[in-house]
Amino acid sequence: MQISQHLSLKPYNSFAIDAKAKYFSAFASPATLESLLSTADHEPILILGGGSNMLFTTDFNGWVLKNECKGISLVKEDDDYFYVKAAAGENWHQFVMYCIQQGYAGVENLSLIPGNVGASPMQNIGAYGVEIKDVFHELEAFHREERKLRTFQLADCAFGYRESVFKNKYKDQFVILSVTFRLRKKPVFNTSYGAIEQELERMGIKELSIQAISEAVIRIRRSKLPDPAEIGNAGSFFKNPTIPTVQFEQLRQSFATIIGYPAGNGLTKVAAGWLIEQCGWKGYRKGDAGCHTRQALVLVNYGHATGDEIVQLSTNIINSVQEKFGIHLEREVNLV
Ligand SMILES: Cc1cc2nc3c(=O)[nH]c(=O)nc-3n(C[C@H](O)[C@H](O)[C@H](O)COP(=O)(O)OP(=O)(O)OC[C@H]3O[C@@H](n4cnc5c(N)ncnc54)[C@H](O)[C@@H]3O)c2cc1C
Repeated sequence: MQISQHLSLKPYNSFAIDAKAKYFSAFASPATLESLLSTADHEPILILGGGSNMLFTTDFNGWVLKNECKGISLVKEDDDYFYVKAAAGENWHQFVMYCIQQGYAGVENLSLIPGNVGASPMQNIGAYGVEIKDVFHELEAFHREERKLRTFQLADCAFGYRESVFKNKYKDQFVILSVTFRLRKKPVFNTSYGAIEQELERMGIKELSIQAISEAVIRIRRSKLPDPAEIGNAGSFFKNPTIPTVQFEQLRQSFATIIGYPAGNGLTKVAAGWLIEQCGWKGYRKGDAGCHTRQALVLVNYGHATGDEIVQLSTNIINSVQEKFGIHLEREVNLV
């Protein structure tokens, strides 16, 4: 077990922020995790996956523990489903590619989301009309204090839009070690969201398949989102806010092109990117902190921005959206 001191976390977070960890180590088994937790004693601990949904605002004065547990296995099947267990340290997109290759259906719309399997339940990752909760069976997590394994079923996770029990009630209490997904034997295609259908048409697809949907999603994402390997970012920086439909209709009187989708229970989900763009932030840059030129929802680090500079920019955006539309934007990215 190798322990590094004062290690730069720049290669370990997709925002490429040059914060340092007082101690850094990786674990590939529950036993190593347990021993690291004992060594760390009561110092602050941060569990790191792919680092694609966090923003370091300062050096981390404690232990950064990177989850590198590997392995994918088919644990059971019934008439309709395959139950596939993946260790938390597996790369999410590679897991999706594996499922597609094996004919396990359900995660194809979630192709090309950065990060690892272990973080996928944290914010109930979602894209193109599908969320983890739609394919989730159960997960195993290790309680940091009690040093005990616990299994969480779907109902225990309180999944919501970019939310779960692990971000709220059990924040910083559990280390997710594996996730088991319930994947269909007969695919149910979901092409209604975003530009999937147009992309499939452009690709000349005559017969739908999970491969074709995955490929369409990958093409759309590549055309829309900045690649963290080129420009530091963590995807959508803000959540799409949900407001009462009555308020949305009132706003539409003044802003005819406002974008929103019915969210049930008299609520409407508003496109945060549109709100931010209307406030003039798209393409804004101060120093190396900026708002992406094509996707206003994505804040970027052009090279040497600090986490604080990105946070300051996000605060200015939140304030201006509040002022212009009376809508409060919430950050999706985890500030550390
Ligand atoms: C270009 C880009 C596009 C993106 N698109 C999407 C998208 O379409 N949909 C979407 O939902 N997200 C998207 N994201 C956000 C991100 O990819 C996901 O949130 C992803 O699940 C984060 O995984 P990670 O392993 O990188 O997590 P990290 O950033 O390493 O961690 C995120 C949080 O989870 C905690 N954590 C990580 N692993 C564990 C574990 N095993 N046990 C306990 N806690 C853990 C961390 O402490 C932290 O609080 C995007 C990000 C980028 C950069």
